[in-house]
Amino acid sequence: MRGYVSGEQPQGDGWVKLNTNENPYPPSPKVVAAIKDAATGRLNVYPDASATEFCNVAAELFGVGPDWILPANGSDENLTIIMRSFCDPNDTIAFPYPSYVLYESLAKIQNCSVQHIKLNHDFQWDAVESKAICRHARIVFAPNPNSPTGNRWTADQLHQLLPDKGVLVVDEAYGDFADDPHRGELLNDDRFDRRLIVTRTLSKSYSLAGIRFGFSIADPEITAGMHKVRDSYNCDAIATAAATAALLDQDWMHQNRKKIMITRNRITLELPQFGFTVSPSEANFVWTVHESGRHQEIYEQLKRNRILVRFMQFPCGGPRGETLDGLRITVGTDEEVGKLFDALKNVVATVC
Ligand code: PMP
Repeated sequence: MRGYVSGEQPQGDGWVKLNTNENPYPPSPKVVAAIKDAATGRLNVYPDASATEFCNVAAELFGVGPDWILPANGSDENLTIIMRSFCDPNDTIAFPYPSYVLYESLAKIQNCSVQHIKLNHDFQWDAVESKAICRHARIVFAPNPNSPTGNRWTADQLHQLLPDKGVLVVDEAYGDFADDPHRGELLNDDRFDRRLIVTRTLSKSYSLAGIRFGFSIADPEITAGMHKVRDSYNCDAIATAAATAALLDQDWMHQNRKKIMITRNRITLELPQFGFTVSPSEANFVWTVHESGRHQEIYEQLKRNRILVRFMQFPCGGPRGETLDGLRITVGTDEEVGKLFDALKNVVATVC
């Protein structure tokens, strides 16, 4: 199998990095203090395997009991735990297409088959077709807002994806950037029959991609099952202290969220002057296509200018091997976006 290929992570300075949806702002100073505190603590002993304090804080934020929370080493690990918990070889999973490429890799590792819920030009699925696809799935994954398209589906739409017997995973990695973010509302919606798992990450809205921390929220019975699958010490003491402090400093997260939403608006309004069409986004990135169709060349030229965006190409299964391609651009600081626009003036003139 081909493994999942993550975005480029150049380790040197001088890059404008708009390719992996990181937060351009630093984490809360309270998080840095908590990390220092944890580092001077008792590192010779194993951490609290249940991450009790973190679970209490997360539970309060989402209006559920602590036994609904399962912390993990990044929400990618939550997705792995979910796959291992609910799928045997030859089971089927489903997810909107295009969406997060990792779901497909996880299915292959588990020897499961994959069904795509095809999205149309407005990034919506057909209700009848999707129902037929999802009915027999063990797991349906739905990123909300979706990546790379940036749109967000309603609870009514998500309900169309609930399998007859399996679970629906609403991957809210970008949930805090939605115009009207929800906190646990879906979990209290009886229509989902308590077979809903929400996943969240500290990597994006809390500026902690370097720490690796995510968590899932689901009915205690489901969560208890997933606890059996995870490594007993899957979250280390330092990351857990950082994540707990981050959730406790909601003001910091909201300030950065607001700045990102303003810059997202700027990108949406200004990119079209270079010949791009920008899809409305409720995430910390935008999906855009250029009238020339020369996305790979634009990506490569930007890279020569030390600006990284994500060139993405999704096979559409047409008779001539058609692909859906475009650029996913992370919302950076205003200064970074200014550099992107300066470079684009020349890049678009030379490439297109
Ligand atoms: N879900 C989606 C849709 C994502 O884009 C990402 C980030 N690549 C993740 C989950 C994983 O986030 P992390 O492992 O950093 O928590």
